[in-house]
Amino acid sequence: MPPAETNWQAAADAIAAAQAVLVVSHSSPDGDAIGSLLGMAGALCGLGKKVIPAVDEGVPDELAFLPNSQAILPRLAHGEFDLMIALDASDIERIGQVGKYGLAHSRRVINLDHHPTNTRFGDIQLVVPEAAAAAEVVFDLLQYAGWQLSRDVAFALLAGLVTDTQGFRIPATSSRSLEIAQALMKAGAPLSEIMARTLNRRSFAEVTLWQKALQSVQLRDGLICAAITQNDLKLANLRKMTDGGLVNYLVDVDAAKVAVVFKELPTAVEISFRARPGYDVGRLALALGGGGHVLAAGCTVAGSLQQAQKQVLPLARKIIDEGDSA
Ligand code: 5GP
Ligand code: MN
Repeated sequence: MPPAETNWQAAADAIAAAQAVLVVSHSSPDGDAIGSLLGMAGALCGLGKKVIPAVDEGVPDELAFLPNSQAILPRLAHGEFDLMIALDASDIERIGQVGKYGLAHSRRVINLDHHPTNTRFGDIQLVVPEAAAAAEVVFDLLQYAGWQLSRDVAFALLAGLVTDTQGFRIPATSSRSLEIAQALMKAGAPLSEIMARTLNRRSFAEVTLWQKALQSVQLRDGLICAAITQNDLKLANLRKMTDGGLVNYLVDVDAAKVAVVFKELPTAVEISFRARPGYDVGRLALALGGGGHVLAAGCTVAGSLQQAQKQVLPLARKIIDEGDSA
């Protein structure tokens, strides 16, 4: 259910009453995390607020083309805020160190998100699971409050919408998503440039990573999985763990129902899940301490790659066995 009218009003009132506002999104930020954060921050700047945008690890290189992305702080050690706005983050863990600092140093917290697994932390919730991206919820708040939509804000929000919907391809894409995209384009957001700089690009290092990781791919009775090791990462000359979109590629295999990519960290394993309609990996990720959407979710589990595979693959198998009853 969309949030009650009172929540939109409470959020608009809290913003109107605030001077210093901290804006954060989830660690290991993706296009929607950065797009919704920059959109919100830009709108607040337009209202004359003192805005501090921050996200653990800062802006990934591939999103640095977004206007004003250089203003985002990668860490936070001082400052007191009237308000913190958390975007695209379903729980307190996800907002990382900057969020932890923000929770302790902000008088109020708005939780703006679109994950059905959101824990409803914070004082005011704008959690809209029907929204295809957190950027859609930011757009709705701007519209509700009657705030101006500048080109830079529209640019950032369209980047969030394009990346989270994989170019308007995933089932969560609604006619409303397209209406919002149209409004953002009318405000000056360059759709084809955003597509070209996010979805239609990859580094050669990512190709090298896939070359290694594809050797680990296995498909059995609808469950497709792959692993990326620290050694693969090193051979590809990459500093930070990523799957370069591999999990999205694997779930499109004809016979696949659920795709799982294991990403080995020094003492833990990050896991990305994708499902075809009819199967729910959000539930599985939540049970493993993570979260996400029905068709796209993730978590991090402690231990070795082998331990993670042994723990998680039978659970993914269960999702397939139980699923598709809808
Ligand atoms: P990805 O596989 O692209 O990293 O993540 C897919 C979806 O799952 C995204 O919506 C992302 O926010 C969510 N997600 C991934 N990892 C975690 C996690 O550790 N915790 C939570 N709460 N959500 C996650
Ligand atoms: Mn999102």
